[in-house]
Parts: sequence; C-alpha cells; structure tokens
Amino acid sequence: EEETKAKSRRESMQRYKIMDKLGEGAFSKVYKGLNIETGEHVAVKVIMKSQLDEKQRASVLKEVTLMRQLDHPNIVKFLDFIENDQCFYIVQELVDGGELFNQIVKYTYFSEDLARHVIIQVAEALLYLHESVGIVHRDLKPENIFFNPILLKPSRNRILRLSDDPNTKLDEGEFRMNYGGGGIGLVKIGDFGLSKQIFADNSLKTPCGTIGYTAPEIVKDMKYSKEVDMWALGCILYILLCGFPPFFNDSIDELTQKVAKGEYEFLSPWWDEISDGAKHCASKLLTVNPRERYSITQFMNDPWILEFLHRSESYR
Ligand code: ADP
Ligand code: MG
Repeated sequence: EEETKAKSRRESMQRYKIMDKLGEGAFSKVYKGLNIETGEHVAVKVIMKSQLDEKQRASVLKEVTLMRQLDHPNIVKFLDFIENDQCFYIVQELVDGGELFNQIVKYTYFSEDLARHVIIQVAEALLYLHESVGIVHRDLKPENIFFNPILLKPSRNRILRLSDDPNTKLDEGEFRMNYGGGGIGLVKIGDFGLSKQIFADNSLKTPCGTIGYTAPEIVKDMKYSKEVDMWALGCILYILLCGFPPFFNDSIDELTQKVAKGEYEFLSPWWDEISDGAKHCASKLLTVNPRERYSITQFMNDPWILEFLHRSESYR
C-alpha cells in the first residue's frame, strides 16, 4: 500500500497549479507554476513522451539525475520530478527575469561592469561544474542563461536593496558602479539537456551544441572536454560587450570554417571604446588550441576580472 501511495504521489501534478507559458524548447514547454502546498512559484518543464524515442526518454532521465546532484546559487535549482503516462514534468526554481538573451536584445549591449557582473556569475557556475562536480555543460548560450531582475526598493536614505539578497544594501552610486544599472541580479544557468558526466581521461565525442558557440575542437570532430564551455563563455562575453556574436554567417560551411580557424574580429566601431583588458580576456577564451585557452581558474585570475572582483568586494 505504501508503494501505491508513493507511486501516485510521484505521478501527481495536483500539488502544482500551471500558469503562464515561460518558454519553449525543442521537446518541451516551460510554464510558470504555483506549488499549492507551499505557495512557492516554480518553473515546470513539461515534456510530452509521445514526441520522444527511447534514447531521448533516457536522456530526460539523465538530465534529471544530473540536476538533482547540483547545488549552486548560479545554477537553476531542481525541485521535483513527476512522470505519468503522457508526460515528464521537471519542476525547477523559477528564475523570474527569463533569458539573458532577451536582456541583451533589450539593451543592445552591456557596460563593461554589467558584462563582468554577469559573466562572473556564469563562471562561478562553471567553476562548480568543472572543479567540484566534474561535468561539462556543452550548451552554454544566452538562451540557456536566466536571470532574476533587481527590484529597486525605495527606502529612506536612498539605500537600494537587491531583491535576491535582502541583506545587501548599496547606495545608488555604488549600485551603478557594481551593476551598471542593467536590472540584472542573480544569474543562473539552466537547461542541462545536453550536459554529460565526464570521468578522468574519458573525453566526450558526440557532435552537439549550437554552431556559433561551438568550439573549434568540436567542429573539427576532435575529442573535447571542459574547454568547450570556456569557448562558449568567450562567445557570451563577446556578445555581452558588443551585442553580436563573434561567429556568425548565413552559410553553415563558412561559419564552421571560421570557427575552426578561430577567425573573429573586434569589429570597429563597436569595439573601439572597449578596454584592452576586456579584449584580452575575451581573446584568451576564444583561443583555438584548447590547451592554451583559459581554464576556469585562469579566467577567475584574469586581471580584468580580478579588478572588478576586488572593487565589488570593498562594498561588502
Ligand atoms: P530546452 O531544453 O527544451 O531548450 P529549456 O530548459 O532551455 O528547455 O527551457 C526552455 C525555455 O523556458 C527557456 O529558454 C526559458 O525561456 C524558459 N525557462 C526554462 N527554465 C526556466 C526557469 N527555471 N525559470 C524561468 N524560465 C525558464
Ligand atoms: Mg534551452
């Protein structure tokens, strides 16, 4: 009887009220939801089983197993998994601001400080994935990075509070210094559909990801590993700073060629005002040879990144 109870609980979506649609992926629709028991808002990823073959179903279960293990402030938190005859439901922490991608579209590009505020948080998540857990994300891109907006709460003394952390207080000058006024608070990476657990010297070799953010060693069909996330980090940093990706072309073949050779430019006039420190950091990530490319620890010790970290720390 206990078992039947456990089973029906597992299969029951009754605890959740499904609300607005938040987004859509290749095999899924994601809705805002309400946990009726706790009053907490959540994100529910609904995957129709009928659209999936055996292998794809297995990869959903893999995504769940993977997400269950992860616990980091810059990674979307897994909350619950429900399965019935028609669907899988992956219940996750709701990240209210939606995709980072939309924010880039809205602002065209970010100030160097806002770009650093964002990229450091993505890097913190990668540091955790690469060094503590030992997995490669493989599908890092602005569409898979979500953010919580900063809600500026009016208060006496013109002290601003960040919605994510009620204990953080900054005055307006400090706030602009740290956050560049872009309305982005906590940044979280999600969508582990393509991530894979890797073990010591057992590198991955399946072509996947999205051309445009895909590392040279993948397009050249070589073995690859954590370094592919660092390449993607470079693509994201590049986009944050200027508003367009380093590699784009209408022809897939030409694009592939460019990525393989690492042929990109700091195009004028868009990059004219951007500091040499920022360019140097981006170029160390967009380095074709994975052995020469910044690792996550090297990135964290880049002078342009350190300068920002030290400056932010003095406010805490
Ligand atoms: P897929 O693997 O199908 O690409 P994603 O996990 O990327 O699915 O989700 C699809 C979209 O749904 C995202 O791009 C985003 O707009 C929205 N979304 C997903 N998870 C969340 C979340 N936790 N909070 C808010 N929006 C989300
Ligand atoms: Mg996605």
